[in-house]
Order: sequence, then structure tokens, then C-alpha cells
Amino acid sequence: MPITSKPTPILYSPDHCLHDPRYELENGMLSRYQEHPARIEKVLMHLKQLENITLVPPSETVPLEILESVHSPDLIQHLQKESQAVAEQEARNPDLAPLYRYPYIFPIRSEMHSYLSTSPEPDGCFAFDTYAPIGSGTWRAVFASASLAWQGAGLLIAGEQVAYALCRPPGHHASYDSIGGYCYLNNAAIAATRLKNLGPGAILDIDYHHGNGTQSIFWQDNQVLTVSLHADPAQEYPFFSGYADESGGEMAIGSNINLPLPAGCDDSTYLQAVKVALQRIRTFRPRWLVLSAGYDTCAADPTTSFMLSGDAYEQIGRKITKTGLPVLVVHEGGYAIEENGGLAARLLDGLRSKGGE
Ligand SMILES: [Zn+2]
Repeated sequence: MPITSKPTPILYSPDHCLHDPRYELENGMLSRYQEHPARIEKVLMHLKQLENITLVPPSETVPLEILESVHSPDLIQHLQKESQAVAEQEARNPDLAPLYRYPYIFPIRSEMHSYLSTSPEPDGCFAFDTYAPIGSGTWRAVFASASLAWQGAGLLIAGEQVAYALCRPPGHHASYDSIGGYCYLNNAAIAATRLKNLGPGAILDIDYHHGNGTQSIFWQDNQVLTVSLHADPAQEYPFFSGYADESGGEMAIGSNINLPLPAGCDDSTYLQAVKVALQRIRTFRPRWLVLSAGYDTCAADPTTSFMLSGDAYEQIGRKITKTGLPVLVVHEGGYAIEENGGLAARLLDGLRSKGGE
């Protein structure tokens, strides 16, 4: 039960519904795009029923200069231009709508990159996989999602102890100049950039998949500790990062911590890893925490192998609360549509407890 008296802000924008690709491609097979609007709508339904919350509509947008510091200006321009180009294509051929452009040619990064980005098929210059197609509403949706994270960070700066940003599309796979894994703009990184005004801080990523984008954005930043608990990348997406020996760049050695976990991970193993993560976070002496909250770690998730129960999410929240840090929750993955709302509510209950395990 929540004990804190002040209502907890839940930030939500309906603009996420503007992004709704129908298909994803895996091993040559088309299947339903897993990252769809019902994910957030169901979570919203659950959180609205909690006591002592306040629904916060969008009232701020993330400044362009911030977007262009977290991400490359070329990537930001690409997202805007592609959404506009798709809108114009749909206007010319209404029968094609909704149309989404998928990258299908991936030029190897080189000094040719900027030249290639002006080609008629630039998508692969800015994507590391095929899971982030661009439609006419994609830019507006990702900008709204990033803006919620930005606004949520502002609430912490104004003194809130806990806030929950219902970001969609998610963000933790998006790096400085690459989209992928359903992610376009790195919402957690954008929030962290604002929170750095309070001093050093930490991002704890509890999504099932490694937060490769978040790791890379702060790789050389010794003011932001990035910690990720995730499935072993030797077996799971994103495969090419998330290993335990990735500890930060030359300018920030020790400021990245990866805790890969085995397939089938249960509550007990997971909560032990959370304990280790929080010990490392305490040692860093942060002033704030961004929690990249994915629920694809739960037993009901159709896409993953972990076996977490609802209790685990409340315990995660309680353990985090004991740090005393102000926490911004940024919504990431989770594809058990009917379950995720209840899990988010349990996490929030834990975060609003008085601590204690
Ligand atoms: Zn995930």
C-alpha cells in the first residue's frame, strides 16, 4: 500500500498511438509488431485505478538542442524527414496507408556514411536492425515520448520523489546515431541529461534486454552510472553488447555495469542481482535515479525466458526506495499486454513504500 501522502505523477501522452506498425520480420517470417499501442493503454488503465496518483498531461517538449546532444542532428533530421516523406506518399496513394518504411540495406559505417544518408534509401544508415520502421506519425510519437521523459525529469528537479513516465515508443536501444529494437529516441538518456543539473546520477535498466543505446550514450560520461540487468547477450538480443566486461570508456572507466543473467532467471536470482546493482549505485553516490522499467522479464511475457512474479516487481521497488534517491520511472519493453499494468502497479507500490524489504 502506498504510504506517501503526495499524489504520484503519472505522465501520459495519447500521441504514442500515432505510431502503430503492423509487422515485424524475424527469420524471414512476418509477424505482428509486438510494440503496439495497447501496451501503454493497458498500463494506463491499471495505474489510473491506483490510489494517490495524479495523471499529468504533456505540458513541456524536449528542446531541440537537447535532442541534438543526446542524438546526432542527422538522426533527428532523418526521423523528421522520413515521417514527412511517408505522410506525403500516403497522401498521394491513400490505399497504401498506413505505410511504414523498413530499412533493408545497411551500408557499413565508413567515411561514406554522410554521403549515403542523402541517398533515396537512407534508413539503413540510421538503423542497426529492422525493428524500428518509420511511418507518418512516428516522429510525433517519438517526440512526445521523449518529451514525457524530459518533463518527468523536471518534476524530480522540482522536488518529486517518484514519477512515472509512460513513454512509448521505448528508448533504451537507441544510441547516439542508431535506432532499432522498437526504439528511436533514448527517453532515459534524455531525462538523465536534464537531471544532471542536480549532479551525478544513475540509470538502472531492468528491461529483459541489454540497454545498449543507454550504455553507448554515456560510455564516456563519468557523471552518469549506467547499470543494466538483462538476459545474457550470448543468447539473447541485442547479442553484440551487454557483456560483463563492458565497464565504460577511457574517460569513464567503471561507470558502466552489466549484470547478464541466465535463461529462466527466477525471483531469487534476479533480486540478488538487484541488490548487487544497488550496492554499486550507492557507492557511486548519485543524486537521482532513472529506472528504465521493462516488464519483459515477467513469467507471462511471450517473447522472453525470465520467470519473474508480480512480487518481484514490488520487491525491486522497495529495494530502490531504500536508497532514498528520487526516482523517475521510464517505461521500456514488456509484451504480456494483459499483465504489464498490474506489474507496473506493483513496482510503483514498492517505490512508494517507506522502504524495508
Ligand atoms: Zn526488452
